[in-house]
Amino acid sequence: MLPTTSECRICSGVVNEFFDFGRQPLADAFREPGSDEQEFFYRLAVGACADCTMVQLMEEVPRDRMFHNGYPYHSSGSVVMQAHFEETAKGFLAAELSGPDPFIVEIGSNDGAMLKVIAAAGVRHLGVEPSGGVADLAAAEGITVRKDFFEESTALETLEAHGTADVIYSANTFSHIPYVDSVLKGVAALLSPTGSFVFEDPYFADIVERTSFDQIYDEHFFLFSASSVANMVTRFGLELVDVKRLPTHGGEVRYTVAHAGSRPVSAAVAELLREEREQGLTSTATLERFGANVEATRERLLEKLRSLRDAGKRVVGYGATAKSATVLNYCGIDSDLVEFICDSTPAKQGRLTPGSHIPVRKPEDFALPYPDYAVLFAWNHADEVIAKEQGFRDAGGRWIRYVPEVTVL
Ligand code: SAM
Repeated sequence: MLPTTSECRICSGVVNEFFDFGRQPLADAFREPGSDEQEFFYRLAVGACADCTMVQLMEEVPRDRMFHNGYPYHSSGSVVMQAHFEETAKGFLAAELSGPDPFIVEIGSNDGAMLKVIAAAGVRHLGVEPSGGVADLAAAEGITVRKDFFEESTALETLEAHGTADVIYSANTFSHIPYVDSVLKGVAALLSPTGSFVFEDPYFADIVERTSFDQIYDEHFFLFSASSVANMVTRFGLELVDVKRLPTHGGEVRYTVAHAGSRPVSAAVAELLREEREQGLTSTATLERFGANVEATRERLLEKLRSLRDAGKRVVGYGATAKSATVLNYCGIDSDLVEFICDSTPAKQGRLTPGSHIPVRKPEDFALPYPDYAVLFAWNHADEVIAKEQGFRDAGGRWIRYVPEVTVL
């Protein structure tokens, strides 16, 4: 079979596929029990551009299928993320937003976890958020929100109505947007001459190092690195001026981008670019090793869950995360192996996980009674979950993790 290729969304170069997860459902399409509605499936495969190094999905899912009134992810669902956004907002208020009448735009403001701090400080702001349900939650907190997709037209209308932005911020959203061309033209027009575009997204080097293949799903269209981001922004008259590794969501990088030549480039940029070159981050050898590690994780996880089932142990899951969709469907895990999954998001409770159809229940059901084992699908919030559920450990329960490898804690 010939290797599969596609055209790079950034530079039109050749994207070479390196892993195929097969047919997958939408990661956030939690299903009503008894629903006879046809589930939407697409081919989840990932490739790297031979020219600009950008790692990207081979197939794009239409955006309205993913981001709509019922979009279930709430930024404020984790206390760790709430603290992260509060600290981020305070950082902006103390620096970039400390001049006269500053203005900040957030792309993908969700339920307003970051902007509520900005709004409380009385600073001009605009959240751009297409998912109506979460946008309404933010508006109810007194945050100014435009219910829309951010793209060039939205940016130009914002510029017309409010003037240039000192900061454009985006967390866990820019990597969700295949139409980069439109977004970055909009950013370049809206950003003030001295402003910064700051975005944070899962870091491909962390995904490779930890075999966190569950970061790959429909919404995560791009898996960024310093190298691919630097190449991407240059095409729009912008420049990568700073990078910072973050522990959020299992390993991210905060990229700071500015108009080319408007700011000094920090030493951290050259350092991360050098590390990526030395690692051979998108070399064939690295990508093949990643693929082999993904297959090994699947085998070990299935072996563990099957042996627990055969020994008559009760196993449930913790965190019906979007990430869990890739693990469950790629590994073929259903309610025969994992009885139910607890999740604190009301919009997911009482529903079934996409494709694998495992019931989602309230976290309170976890202790009724405690199971023998719990698979930590929310592994990126491990410290928060394990501390909150100390009673499970005290009752003799054991956690199962699969990142960076299958381990029983
Ligand atoms: N920024 C929040 C955070 O980090 O918790 C939300 C992240 S959530 C994973 C992704 C968000 O991006 C969703 O709320 C979705 O509706 C929004 N989104 C998707 N495409 C967008 C676009 N073109 N412009 C603005 N927001 C978008």
